[in-house]
Amino acid sequence: MKQQVLIENGQLIVPNHPTIPFIEGDGVGKEIWAAAKTIFDTAVKKAYHGEKSVQWCEVLAGEKAYNLTGSWLPQETINAFKHYLIGIKGPLMTPVGEGIRSLNVALRQELDLYICLRPVRWFKGVESPIKHPEKVNMTIFRENTEDIYAGIEWQQGTPEAEKFYQFLSTQMGVNKVRFPKTSSFGVKPVSIEGSQRLIRAAIKYALQHQLPSVTLVHKGNIMKFTEGGFKQWGYALAESEFANEVFTMNQYAKMAKTNGQALADEALQAAKSSGKLIIKDVICDAFLQNTLLKPQDYSVVATLNLNGDYISDQLAAQVGGIGIAPGANINYLTGHAIFEATHGTAPDIAGQNQANPSSLLLSGVMMFDYLGWYEVGQLITQAMEKLFQQGKATTDLVRFMQNGQPLSTSQFTQAVIDNL
Ligand code: NAD
Repeated sequence: MKQQVLIENGQLIVPNHPTIPFIEGDGVGKEIWAAAKTIFDTAVKKAYHGEKSVQWCEVLAGEKAYNLTGSWLPQETINAFKHYLIGIKGPLMTPVGEGIRSLNVALRQELDLYICLRPVRWFKGVESPIKHPEKVNMTIFRENTEDIYAGIEWQQGTPEAEKFYQFLSTQMGVNKVRFPKTSSFGVKPVSIEGSQRLIRAAIKYALQHQLPSVTLVHKGNIMKFTEGGFKQWGYALAESEFANEVFTMNQYAKMAKTNGQALADEALQAAKSSGKLIIKDVICDAFLQNTLLKPQDYSVVATLNLNGDYISDQLAAQVGGIGIAPGANINYLTGHAIFEATHGTAPDIAGQNQANPSSLLLSGVMMFDYLGWYEVGQLITQAMEKLFQQGKATTDLVRFMQNGQPLSTSQFTQAVIDNL
């Protein structure tokens, strides 16, 4: 009888031997999945001595699925993720120019995985382009279903673009389009529900992990109703749903206006010393500067889809971890979550025993944390920390390390296991 993770009243119920579907992935997927699975199983055994284990169940997607079934994303795969709630995946090749939407986007949409969660931290020993990478320790909550990513756009020169422009000019009185005949158009939907469910999850996460702040990152000075709405709805939600647990910079600004700066400062200090979570906001371009100049000022970050895309990569690069950054796509309401390697299929090194399994490994750490099996994540993370400190890593990382020792995928896997 297969055991499955369930959700009841918003709480995950995790059996001792849950079935977890996995997608091996294309290109280097096969190699990094084999490495990760061995490490996961060993760490679970080490942590729970057989009392707990994962029953892995392969589901197909990508090139392997297409070759075996004729479909890039078989319905059985979506059904399995729906049924078992959580899953993990390697990178998938998206065929270019064949009218097939990205498989990752398809999975996110099918399961309404509205949060893209990206923790960013530095591993001692990993080369970084900044002086103090140890000061970067953030968790990014990127909205995953709205914004300009909704894919509502029309190419210039098509009847649809012309029709859309006609609508804008005749029905909406828009006369600001500089070159209407040659413009493509895109629509940016940002809703109250979409923003608030993301921001609510970020606040809950910060409270649960006793973190100091949640920063709403937006470009509301220019896009007042979409990105400005995100900020405004975020503050409103924080002040109504978490009134006793947070202090917002919106409250601070109001207080400063009515009672003066000194009293507002006092209230902020009092909130901080009583351990309240501070909710603040920053304009996206300033945030990107600040993350280089004073990254220690940020902890949990909640942002819209496009900003989140840029921010995740910049922050990952700051800790030298663009190739090892993990990620998860989550719906906390239904419990559905897919954990994934964030890099691509690396066709240039596929099959050469050179691929770095760290991104998939760390996304597995996120998965075990999500299940509440914290001991497993700790074992794996500590083993990786130890190896990186000794300069032991795969070539992609070692080439930036002084006196690093390059290991193949299988050597690195064995070294992690030896250090568990
Ligand atoms: P890529 O991430 O596959 O490769 C970029 C560079 O990083 C390459 O030099 C590669 O060798 C290196 N690299 C990537 N992963 C590595 C690893 N684990 N270990 C060592 N080196 C690694 O990006 P790309 O070349 O732009 O894309 C290739 C394919 O991957 C495309 O079909 C693209 O659509 C797909 N892709 C999938 C995902 C995903 O499934 N999440 C993400 C990005 C790209």
